[in-house]
Amino acid sequence: MKNSTIWISASVLIGAFVMPFTANAESAIQQTKGSYQDKFRQLDETLPTPNVYRSAAGEPGENYWQQRADYDIDVTLNEAARRIDASETITYHNNSPYTLRYIWIQLDQNIFRNDSMAERSSTFSSRPEQNLNGIDKPARISLGQLRRQQFMADNELGFEIKKISDSRGQGMDFVVVGTKLRLDLPQPLKPGQKTEFGIDFGFNIVESDAVGARSGYEHFPDDEREGGNDIFLMAQWYPRVTAFTDYEAWTNKEFLGSGEFTMEFGDFEVEITVPADHIVSASGVLQNPRDVLTSTQRERLDDAKGAERPVFVVTPEEALENEKEATDEMKTWRFVAENVRDFAWASSRKFIWDAQVYEQGGNVMPEVLAMSFYPKEGGELWEKYSTASVIHTMEVYSRFSFDYPYPTAQSVNGPVGGMEYPMITFNGPRTELQDDGSRTYSLAEKRFLIGVVIHEIGHIYFPMIVNSDERQWTWMDEGLNSYLDAVAGREWDPDIPWGVEARGIIDYMKSTNQVPIMTQSDSVLNLGPNAYTKPAVALNILREVIMGRELFDYAFKEYARRWMFKRPTPADFFRTMEEASGVDLDWFWRGWFYSTDHVDISLDRVYKLRMDTKDPDIDWERRRQEEANKPTSLFVERNQAEGRKTWVELNPEVTDFYDENDEFTVTNKQRNAYQSFLEKLEPWERRVFDRAVSEDKNYYVLDFSNLGGLVMPILLEWTYADGTTDSMHIPAEIWRRNAKNVSKLIVTDKEVTDFAVDPQWETADVDIANNYYPRRIIPSRIEAYKGNWPADHIRRDLMQESKSKLKTDDEEDSKDETENDDQ
Ligand SMILES: [Zn+2]
Repeated sequence: MKNSTIWISASVLIGAFVMPFTANAESAIQQTKGSYQDKFRQLDETLPTPNVYRSAAGEPGENYWQQRADYDIDVTLNEAARRIDASETITYHNNSPYTLRYIWIQLDQNIFRNDSMAERSSTFSSRPEQNLNGIDKPARISLGQLRRQQFMADNELGFEIKKISDSRGQGMDFVVVGTKLRLDLPQPLKPGQKTEFGIDFGFNIVESDAVGARSGYEHFPDDEREGGNDIFLMAQWYPRVTAFTDYEAWTNKEFLGSGEFTMEFGDFEVEITVPADHIVSASGVLQNPRDVLTSTQRERLDDAKGAERPVFVVTPEEALENEKEATDEMKTWRFVAENVRDFAWASSRKFIWDAQVYEQGGNVMPEVLAMSFYPKEGGELWEKYSTASVIHTMEVYSRFSFDYPYPTAQSVNGPVGGMEYPMITFNGPRTELQDDGSRTYSLAEKRFLIGVVIHEIGHIYFPMIVNSDERQWTWMDEGLNSYLDAVAGREWDPDIPWGVEARGIIDYMKSTNQVPIMTQSDSVLNLGPNAYTKPAVALNILREVIMGRELFDYAFKEYARRWMFKRPTPADFFRTMEEASGVDLDWFWRGWFYSTDHVDISLDRVYKLRMDTKDPDIDWERRRQEEANKPTSLFVERNQAEGRKTWVELNPEVTDFYDENDEFTVTNKQRNAYQSFLEKLEPWERRVFDRAVSEDKNYYVLDFSNLGGLVMPILLEWTYADGTTDSMHIPAEIWRRNAKNVSKLIVTDKEVTDFAVDPQWETADVDIANNYYPRRIIPSRIEAYKGNWPADHIRRDLMQESKSKLKTDDEEDSKDETENDDQ
C-alpha cells in the first residue's frame, strides 16, 4: 500500500472539525461558479402544483375525478376476408366538473393508413457508403421493411366508420383527425350526466408479422388444412373513448406507436361471433359456456379448480384434429369484463387450452382462473411454463401491490412478442420443429417465455389497474413493471438475467445519445434502456441501496393502493414514494429521471494521517525519521560510487555546532512552548487531547470526485492489514454542498491496506477501475486474429468462378459458396 503518511495537527482536531482541509474549501468555491448545479434542489419547483385533484402527498385529492365509459359491442370475425365488422354502444359518464360539447374517440387502427402521421413522419437512416478503396457499399433496407411497405400498399387499412348515431338512432356529426375522432354532441354534456351513442365500424385486420403491430393475424401456411390456418389477436380493435383528465383535459397526442394508450375504466359486454370451430380467449368471463363449449370441455374447466397443475380444456390432440379442417358455421361467445380500461380477444381453431384456478384467498377475488391458449407450435414449452408463470406473477405482484382483482388471467400465444390488456396477454415464444418431427426449444426461448409472461401479466397491475398515462410516460408502466417483474423473476429463478442488475445499464448510462427518463414516450431514444431498464435499475437501487426494503416496499405498495383503478402522474409517484417512506428523494428523481448524468464516483487519493503529540521530543524525532526515509539524491549516490569525497569529508578538522546538531534538534524553548500549550488547555480540551495522543489512531482522509454527475451514496469498504474488513454507507447527502468533490475522514484503530467504493457493483458506477485505492491492475484478454489480405474483391477470380455449375433444387448450399453472401 502506498498511502502517503502526513501528520495531522492537534489544533485541527480541537478546532471541532469545522473546515479541516483547505483543498476542500477551494473546490467548494469553484463549484459555485459557471456550471453550478444544486443536485439537491427541491423538486417541487419542477413538479405541478398540488391541487384539489392531486395532493402534495401524491394521493388522489379530495375532489379527484375520472371519466367512465361502458361498452356494449357485437363483433363478427370474417375469417376468409380477415376482417371484422362490429357495432358498439358507448355510455359515457361525465364525472368531471366541466361541461363537454364534444367527445374525442381514439381510432388506433388508423395508424396503419398510408397517410397516417406515424407513416408520414417515419424516418430512414441507412446511407450508401464509399470506402477508402473507392468501393461502393449500398444503403440497406431489410426485407421486413419491404414486406411492411408492400403489405400497406396492397391493403386498405384503418377504421371504416360506417355510422355514428345517438340513443334515438339519429346520425351524429364527427370529424376524423388522424388516429382521433371528434364526436360533436347535440346537447352539451353537463357534469354528472351521461350520454349514449353507437358506432358501426369495421376494418381489415393487419398481418401482425408484416407490419410489426401489437395485434393482427398470423398465418400458418403449413397446416394440414387446405390454405392453412390463422391466429387472430384482436386489440385496439374498437373506437375507444380518449382519456379526459384533470391535468391535460382531452389527450391530444396523436398515436405514433411508442406512446401506447391512456384509457378510462368501464364495464364491457362483448359478443364475439367467430367460426364455430374457433376457441376464443378474451378479457373478462365467458357468459355462455353452454353455447360454445362441449360438455367435456365444461367439465374439464371445472376440474381446473383445485388442480395442482394446469388441466387441458382442449388437448393438443384435439387442437391438432381441429386445425385439419374448417366449418362454415358460426358461434357467438359472450364475455363480460367489469371495471377494465380496455378489452382484447384472440381467436383460432389452432388453440390448445389449459387452465388452473389460482387460490388467491382474501375477499377481493379468492379464486382466479389462470389460462393459456396456444397452438401446437407452443408445444411443451407452453404446457409446462405459461399458466404456471401466470400464477407465479399474481402470487408475487399481489404481495407488493394489491390482491389481483379480476376473475381471469390469460396468456395467449400469437405473433406478438409480448403485449398486455386487462385479464389477457399476448406472448410470442415458441418451440422449433425438427426434422424428426419433434419440437425443441433453446434455453433462451424458455427464459423468454417465463420472462415475457411474468412481464405481461404484471402489466395487468401496471398500467391496467394502476392506470398511468402511457401516451405520455412509457416508464411509468414499463419501468415499474420491469422492476417488479425482476422481483418476481428472481423468485422464480435468479440465474435468469432479469435486467435490473446495476451493471446491466452501465453502457447505456455512459452513452451520449440519450434523453432523460422524463421524456414523452414518442420522443424517447432507445426505448428499451430508457423506459424499461434504467427506471427498473433505479427502483432496484432505491430499494436495495438507498431506502432499504422495508421503507421502499411500504411506499411502493402505498402508491399501488392509492392509485388502484385511478390515474397517477409521475409527480404522484415521486411524492408518494417520499411521503410514505419519510425519505427525501428529490435528488434521486432529479439525477435518475430528469437528467442524463451517470454514476462514476472516483476515489482519487487517500492520506494516512498521524496525530502530532506536540511534545517536541517525540514529534521532531518522527520528523527526523521521515526525512531519513526520503530518497537520497542520485547525484550524491553517483558521486559516492565514483569515490568522490566532499569538502566536509576531506576537511574533518573544520567542524562547528551545525555538524553536531541537525535541524530536528529539540531546544528548551520548544519544550517550554509545549508545556505552555498544555497549561493553556481547558480541562476538557486537555482530556480530549491526551486521549487522542495516547490512542494514536489512524486518520485516513479520502478524496472523492463525482465524474459522472449523478450524486449517489458512497458504499465504502476497506480492508485492514490483518485481513479483516469494515464498511460505511455514506449517504448521497455528502454531496449536498459540493456535487463534484468531497473528502471524508475515517478514523481506525488498525491500519488499512486498501479502500473500495461499491465493491458489489450495486450503484451502476460506470468505471470500476477508479473505485479502488490503491488502483488495481485490470484483468482482461487478448485474442489473435487472422487478417483478410488480399481483400475479397482482389481475391475474386472470375475466370475460375465462371466454371461453377448451376445448382439443382435438392442440392444443399455448400458452406463455402454462401460464405461471402452475407457481407
Ligand atoms: Zn411492458
